[in-house]
Amino acid sequence: MIDVKDVVKTYKNGNLELTVLKGLNLSVKKGEYVAFMGPSGSGKSTLMNILGCLDSLTSGTYILDGQDVSRIKGDALAKVRNEKIGFVFQTFNLLPKMNAVENVALPALYAGVKKSERMRRAIEALESVGLGDRIHHKPNEMSGGQRQRVAIARAIINSPNILLADEPTGNLDSKSTEEILEIFKKLNDKGTTIVMVTHEEDVAEHCKRIIRLKDGVIEKDEIVVNRRGV
Ligand code: ATP
Ligand code: MG
Repeated sequence: MIDVKDVVKTYKNGNLELTVLKGLNLSVKKGEYVAFMGPSGSGKSTLMNILGCLDSLTSGTYILDGQDVSRIKGDALAKVRNEKIGFVFQTFNLLPKMNAVENVALPALYAGVKKSERMRRAIEALESVGLGDRIHHKPNEMSGGQRQRVAIARAIINSPNILLADEPTGNLDSKSTEEILEIFKKLNDKGTTIVMVTHEEDVAEHCKRIIRLKDGVIEKDEIVVNRRGV
């Protein structure tokens, strides 16, 4: 499903160059539930952005669902992203002027789905994250946990095969964290491949596999034996 070989990512700002990923190799199969961990600055978000087709790689290859997406850019990359991937950001990234159902429907709009079907799917996605009674609320009328659930509903509206989440519980209290983990578990049980970044060991232990990054490569890759229930 995800096959990454010798991936290098170098950021260039004027004369400054910073190589963040230094020949990273990774393979994630369908149905896996993976946590990325590692020190701040180790390249977790950089890797997630590449996996999520939000950023391009400097060298190496990225095969997504059998398709080489390493050299695809711009609109073509956005199309792959929209069809295959749902992305959840730490800071929610909801549009403040739109209500929940409008925010959630956006990726379906980009995918060319007609309005009545978009609204139907958006309401269904919001119901699946327990927000059926909040569909007309704007982000500033909701709690952090509710906003993150709206962001998850938005990420799953096009039924992606892969859900990528960069610190989805980083800004949340423990009850909201449990709720998010419960939603992820249900999605994973239904076959969605999930990859998330977290700083918290006890969050990572809900996953089936923990990958630790250090200095731009994978330092440790282990299966979780005693998984935590939710
Ligand atoms: P954190 O746990 O703090 O979120 P991280 O592991 O996600 O850290 P990244 O955000 O991937 O780390 O950043 C890795 C390094 O790349 C950092 O040194 C960061 O300053 C640098 N970096 C990230 N994005 C850019 C960019 N757009 N331009 C230049 N440098 C960047
Ligand atoms: Mg990060």
